[in-house]
Amino acid sequence: MVAEVINGKELSIKLKLNMKKEVEHLKEKNIVPHLTVVLVGNNPASRSYVNGKKKASEEVGISSEILELSEAITESELIQIIEQLNNDENVHGILVQLPLPIHINVQHIIEAIDPTKDVDGFHPYNVGKMMTGQDTFLPCTPYGIMTMLHSKKITIEGKHAVVIGRSNIVGKPVGQLLLNENATVTYCHSRTENLKEITKQADILVVAVGRPNVIDKEYIKEGAVVIDVGINRLENGTLTGDVDFDSASLHAAYITPVPRGVGPMTITMLLHNTIKAAKGMKK
Ligand code: NDP
Repeated sequence: MVAEVINGKELSIKLKLNMKKEVEHLKEKNIVPHLTVVLVGNNPASRSYVNGKKKASEEVGISSEILELSEAITESELIQIIEQLNNDENVHGILVQLPLPIHINVQHIIEAIDPTKDVDGFHPYNVGKMMTGQDTFLPCTPYGIMTMLHSKKITIEGKHAVVIGRSNIVGKPVGQLLLNENATVTYCHSRTENLKEITKQADILVVAVGRPNVIDKEYIKEGAVVIDVGINRLENGTLTGDVDFDSASLHAAYITPVPRGVGPMTITMLLHNTIKAAKGMKK
């Protein structure tokens, strides 16, 4: 078996064309979707991510700005800035790029964002709505993964989904979204015993570990769907996922590549959430 590749880059181009039309309709009603991205400090990876978000926003006609703040900003100063953005009716979406400097409590910052502008879907209010299956901003990476599965009409109901990773931004929410669609979900993490035995039972395997090529065909059931969330930069500068693509492709029915997989979908779902915010999210 050679796996069919789920190309996130191609899917995101298709979705962005539709979003562009939606933004044009909103502009006819004098609504210009606006995203403010807050960047604290000089982390080069963060800078590159926020530039990618701004560029993608422009592609679909969303107005966006990057608010660059000093590494030395205090938590209360940052909260004040977020409150100003909360009160600015021209700002529909607010995203604070993570990680933040260690003197700032991330949770305090996330909770300062108005949940109706929380386009990252990280506010506990929105997390709760997601858990209870209500309409809300879904976190972008898990939402992108679900959209990729839907794009190939992959059956989720009744299937065994195994998620490796339990972070708040990827592992936990993607498991929840799979559960919401009636998968039977198992979470694995660094303390999991007999990882291979569990992953080999997966019909859908989501890998969000953050270590290059740790999952190969030995961990994969024949015919499984493999979603590789990992983004790892090797010493030679190339990007690779958590899954050994060439090996895994021999057992999987579907697989996502890195790059051109989950990464572009994450940004695309951020645009989707910003448009949703501009249309008006009720608390
Ligand atoms: P975290 O570091 O927060 O979480 C990693 C998870 O992997 C943890 O739950 C950890 O377990 C688990 N883990 C670590 N080592 C092992 C192991 N040997 N066996 C089993 N489980 C293990 O990472 P994130 O969730 O934030 O990100 C994961 C990856 O996805 C990274 O490469 C990141 O760059 C990428 N990413 C990609 C995005 C995209 O758009 N494509 C978006 C966000 C992230 P424990 O909890 O026990 O420590």
